[in-house]
Amino acid sequence: MRLPLLGDHDRLSREPPPRFPAAMINVTNRCNLSCKHCFVYTDGNPNDPSDDIPDDALLVEVERIRDRHGLYAMLWMGGEPMIRWRLLERGVKLFSRNIITTNGTVPLRDFGRDVTYVVSLDGPEDLNDRVRGEGVFQRVRKNLLALPPGFSPTVQIQCVVTRLNQHRLEELVVAFTDTPVNGLAFTFHVPSVGEESELAWRDVVERESAVDAALAVKGKYPHFVWNSRRALELMRPATARLVTGACPALRTVLPLYVEAGRFTSPKCCYGNNADCDRCGAWVVFSHAAQLEGPWDAVVPPHKPPSLLAQWFAQHAP
Ligand code: SF4
Ligand code: SF4
Repeated sequence: MRLPLLGDHDRLSREPPPRFPAAMINVTNRCNLSCKHCFVYTDGNPNDPSDDIPDDALLVEVERIRDRHGLYAMLWMGGEPMIRWRLLERGVKLFSRNIITTNGTVPLRDFGRDVTYVVSLDGPEDLNDRVRGEGVFQRVRKNLLALPPGFSPTVQIQCVVTRLNQHRLEELVVAFTDTPVNGLAFTFHVPSVGEESELAWRDVVERESAVDAALAVKGKYPHFVWNSRRALELMRPATARLVTGACPALRTVLPLYVEAGRFTSPKCCYGNNADCDRCGAWVVFSHAAQLEGPWDAVVPPHKPPSLLAQWFAQHAP
């Protein structure tokens, strides 16, 4: 679904616009890294590095989409979004909540308390650098240790769990518990359809040992690891495909990529070619843990309803 820029004929205007609590936007298709597991730079996704929308035009369009879909939160992504930090500095003022997903090699800036930085690190130094590039772990660690006292945004590490690092998750946690980082979340590798690699499990049955590993680390560091136990439990084979088959992220996050100088909306946040049957995205399972769905029959829901469930009760039919 391509979304027209301001002034174009809007073919969706005849229909009531769907409401989303959040959207994600790739503010640039440029990145200073080339990670092995990157879903952005796979075939079938809009990812031409020369495709940027100028700051003013992009912000006008983001504001229009915010009002049209009732967004209160924005996930600023890329490429590497901090390459365009001046744009982000203005953009975060448009939303009550902002999440900036960054590779952490570009110094973080204090954009205020309504911002959470999600900094990607995928295991202890040797495994992280095998996937993200030589020297990346230390560059990111140096930037995080240099955060000044009183830095307002929340800083969270996000670790992509893969077949490669699943046995060494605790080492990453231990490396950051005594730093300005506020917490860490595990997200599990989302392979492309047909992907066979050293990172991807064949299926959710093979992946279950990694879920066990993450649960064990959650048990030892319950406050630092932000995945809920329920979200991790939902990744087990008995429920994983009940969740991804009714993917909650399709209801909660409007995905916006950039193609040919305008916004386009791919299948989901993970682009057009992600394998739903093996998807382990945190956004999917954390939202499933907070919303009703067919998985509730297997893993009973929490009471009272989550804030996300209350948002849908108030804003979406
Ligand atoms: S830093 Fe992010 S966008 Fe850049 S190559 Fe790595 S995974 Fe892809
Ligand atoms: S690949 Fe995309 S649509 Fe499929 S379950 Fe994951 S987030 Fe949802």
